[in-house]
Amino acid sequence: MRLTVVGAGYVGLTTAVCFAHLGHEVKVVEKLPHKVELLKEGKVPFYEPGLEELLLESLRKGRIDFTTQLSEGVEFSEVIFICVGTPQNPDGSADLSQVEEVARETAKLMNSYKLLVEKSTVPVNTHKLIKRTVERYLRKRGKSVEFDTASNPEFLREGSAIKDFLYPDRIVIGVESEKARKILWELYKDFNCPIIFTDPATSELIKHASNSFLAMKISYINMVADLCEKVGADIKLVAEGMGYDKRIGKDFLRAGIGWGGSCFPKDIKAFIKMAEDHGVDFSLLKEVDKINSRRAYQFVEKVKNAIWSLRGKTLAIWGLSFKPNTDDIREAPSLRIIPLLLKEGALLKLYDPKAMDNFKKVYPPSKDLDYAQDMYSAVKGTSALLILTEWEEFEKADLSKVRELMELPIIIDGRNIYNPEEVRRLGFEYYGVGVP
Ligand code: NAD
Repeated sequence: MRLTVVGAGYVGLTTAVCFAHLGHEVKVVEKLPHKVELLKEGKVPFYEPGLEELLLESLRKGRIDFTTQLSEGVEFSEVIFICVGTPQNPDGSADLSQVEEVARETAKLMNSYKLLVEKSTVPVNTHKLIKRTVERYLRKRGKSVEFDTASNPEFLREGSAIKDFLYPDRIVIGVESEKARKILWELYKDFNCPIIFTDPATSELIKHASNSFLAMKISYINMVADLCEKVGADIKLVAEGMGYDKRIGKDFLRAGIGWGGSCFPKDIKAFIKMAEDHGVDFSLLKEVDKINSRRAYQFVEKVKNAIWSLRGKTLAIWGLSFKPNTDDIREAPSLRIIPLLLKEGALLKLYDPKAMDNFKKVYPPSKDLDYAQDMYSAVKGTSALLILTEWEEFEKADLSKVRELMELPIIIDGRNIYNPEEVRRLGFEYYGVGVP
């Protein structure tokens, strides 16, 4: 099939290269010219494992092309995937201006049937607003052009985006017409997973309800971890014991310093606001969000309790990205924890395998904060090592070497990546989250 994808971010680019990989012809419309230039050369502007290889393959096979011109995308295909950002407004609601712009500008250009597919995460009934906007502009142009809107939320996770896209747990498609249903069935029918057809509002809601539920699971286990710390129980074993119950499941029960990223923080707030706008007080999710906000303060308290005064102390930080295998630092816990440590007078040596360039844009090197070439030079002469992201590299670190390099062998592990007993046997003082 011929497909158009608007927006070449994590979701749009993954969607585009995966569909191209599956044999479709894809035109990607991205409004930032420098991104388009990079992509045409086969370079991905962010880190996502395997994405560049698939991009190069698609370029070589001539199955993907990039442009800044929406007109080219609208002409190219009858199926247009909207993959633009839906950031947070100051009141917590989703800022839908990028989605509105795509709908409006498409309506000004289209001369034949189009299926506008929302892949961006949007509040329930956004499809109705897209429809109204397109109708208005078509009316103004005196054009009677058939079109449909559909919702096809994306569930991929950064760090494993390609695998998640190609082998999803399920595909959700919200449509109103038989024509739209047929097109999207044709596109997805060979995927080996359940395909759920719904109305668009239900589909839009499935995405927000899923993300908020996952965030809730993490905040829940974090509260249980707090309790474990008070009573001397072990959260890892509590989570394992809970996880064998099929009704609960093992995933998203890892205690730590909280969730971040470009999705959970804004999506949960948008869901709360959307519910509020419809007269539903989703107080449960407000608490989930509050619990998460407190994690950074609690972690810094833990660091202070372990070290005593932080003034003038040099601390190593391993991990800046909001999760491993990405360079994305949007709403990362590191962004909440580092300013608190600096306020306490600590001197920081930061290291992350991929996210340092992005972090330097927010925190350029200064007299209080510096970046290390590798994880070992980060710990040299430090009074403690703080782990903020569970990169595999850190899990496999040579801890004997780390101990020798540090001034004091203290590890404060915000992601529970180490076995406390083993680390203590190596001569470290170890503080995890909810573990004795
Ligand atoms: P992103 O910010 O990485 O990418 C969005 C891209 O769209 C940017 O490159 C931007 O320049 C481009 N863009 C904006 N307006 C445009 C326009 N009018 N024409 C062409 N290009 C335009 O965002 P993302 O992380 O890919 O997320 C996109 C959407 O998908 C959001 O709604 C997000 O919530 C959702 N989502 C994200 C993830 C994730 O893991 N990142 C997962 C599932 C769903």
